[in-house]
Amino acid sequence: MTRQSFADLNPAADAGRIDLVGLSRAELAAQVAAIGEKPFRAKQLWHWIYHRGVTDFAAMTTLAAPLRERLAERFVVGRPAVAREQGSDDGTRKWLLRFADGNEAETVFIPEEDRGALCISSQVGCTLTCTFCHTGTQLLVRDLSAAEMVGQVMVARDAYGEWPSPKEARLLSNVVLMGMGEPLFNYEEVAKALGIVMDREGIAISKRRITLSTAGVVPLIRRCGAELGVNLAISLHAATDEVRSRLMPINKKYPIAELLQACREYPAANNARRITFEYVMLDGVNDSAADAKELARLVRGIPAKFNLIPFNAWPGAPFRCSSPRAMTRFAGILNDAGYSAPIRVPRGRDIMAACGQLRSDSQRQRLSRARARARAGIADDHHGTPTPTAAATILEPPFKNS
Ligand code: SAH
Repeated sequence: MTRQSFADLNPAADAGRIDLVGLSRAELAAQVAAIGEKPFRAKQLWHWIYHRGVTDFAAMTTLAAPLRERLAERFVVGRPAVAREQGSDDGTRKWLLRFADGNEAETVFIPEEDRGALCISSQVGCTLTCTFCHTGTQLLVRDLSAAEMVGQVMVARDAYGEWPSPKEARLLSNVVLMGMGEPLFNYEEVAKALGIVMDREGIAISKRRITLSTAGVVPLIRRCGAELGVNLAISLHAATDEVRSRLMPINKKYPIAELLQACREYPAANNARRITFEYVMLDGVNDSAADAKELARLVRGIPAKFNLIPFNAWPGAPFRCSSPRAMTRFAGILNDAGYSAPIRVPRGRDIMAACGQLRSDSQRQRLSRARARARAGIADDHHGTPTPTAAATILEPPFKNS
């Protein structure tokens, strides 16, 4: 990719113009009305922004030239800045995106033969502090806005040139909310972002191809099913409250029985659209035959399938991955009970893009950048808004695509 400065990539950041990406249809209509234009212009803009992927008003040829100029004076069609892009040997691609305030989050694309899933983040960092997850060891946390989540999809679509929005045969066919953060702790913005992503006259990824993964924020699971109707994945990871509370502090607030009751009532699940139970395999912690039997018993009556995730290690992690034998035995017991339970092949481990590994890399980067800035006499603004010049300097090295 070509080198661009922070200001090039975030034109709104220095020009005070409003970014149209991430506005709901109603909000876009209000912006259009505010400049005295008729409502159908909002529909045209929507088409250019989300169906065609156009970022330059000059290319929006169904709009008259004077209007295009007026739009460009007030608005931008923005993208998060790509601070770093990495490709794994297995085709997985990871983007470290930097938002207007300097905060960063990661997005991962996992290609399959004729399709692929984009794994997006919903927060910078995470407040859950699950003991096996590296993201949970980060301090800095803020919610991502709808615009920043839609921006992740737009960047990936740009990268694969999937504009205009293809009707079928898409590489970027699925979206999973399985990146950094707990999506149900940021429900309003997640719902708004998904509304834009699902809109049929735009990006048009259907709710059947979107999966939201949660650690189990029980009160919001019902809303998610009723309002969004997306596929649900639950990070279960243990068959008893005792073990689950040790792994996931959120279990103390919403224990297994309550969580599974919410799953039983999930309106968007049926035998064709099963709830996925994610289960990270931790040696000697949650991988016994008794655990597998108990799991099968627990989910009885729920349209369920399992995803067994080999634990992805990170420096200083207090766990080890289960042995292949233990994982195979575990999967076998679930299969015998009638459940699909594939042992997932980790993707993108070489670029720290696998489950639970996100952001750790960029944190190290940030440290070394901070040191470099200190040497260069640039004040460390501690994750505050970098000035465009400072940010452009900081952006240099990562573009070398390590
Ligand atoms: N907060 C949401 C979204 C994160 S999804 C949730 O908890 O579901 C990320 C998935 O990766 C979760 O299932 C999480 O439990 C799992 N995970 C986290 N750390 C992991 C690790 N080190 N190895 C394997 N899976 C991990």
